[in-house]
Amino acid sequence: MKYIKLKKIKWLNNLVPSTIIIGLITTLKYMLQRKVTINYPFDKGKVSNKYRGEHALMFYDNGEERCIGCKLCEAICPSQAITIDTKPRDSDGSRRTTKYDIDMSKCIYCGLCQEACPVDAIIETNKYEFVMEKRDELHYNKEKLLKNGEILLKNNKKSFIRK
Ligand code: SF4
Ligand code: SF4
Repeated sequence: MKYIKLKKIKWLNNLVPSTIIIGLITTLKYMLQRKVTINYPFDKGKVSNKYRGEHALMFYDNGEERCIGCKLCEAICPSQAITIDTKPRDSDGSRRTTKYDIDMSKCIYCGLCQEACPVDAIIETNKYEFVMEKRDELHYNKEKLLKNGEILLKNNKKSFIRK
């Protein structure tokens, strides 16, 4: 039965293939609907506060860096992306990092480092545009991470830091 029906419309299908008609109807349908795409990078979508993007090392209001070199973030990182060296600070003997590296090519943006940090020093910002041309550039050092923290504070985005 199905075969006969198909045979009957075969001449029509040869004239205008049904797939073209279906395609045109689909296009017309979506043309009349509200657009779900945006003109990126000129227009940008809303990013959730819970989004976990590029990392930053943060400061207190007096400019003192928050990190106390406890290495909890290094220990908890499932990708072993964080490497920290510490030493007592000359001025007051308090422990501070001499090296704080994150290999972003290993990072899976799980957020565990920020969860483990007792002083909210390492955070994941909602920045998602940090494309690199070279693999080496994905090796973030302390200077780079502190710079990210500075930029964040300059833009007054303290909402990332838990009270
Ligand atoms: S987000 Fe996860 S994988 Fe990335 S550095 Fe932090 S703990 Fe490691
Ligand atoms: S960032 Fe936080 S968890 Fe990691 S070493 Fe510094 S204080 Fe400890």
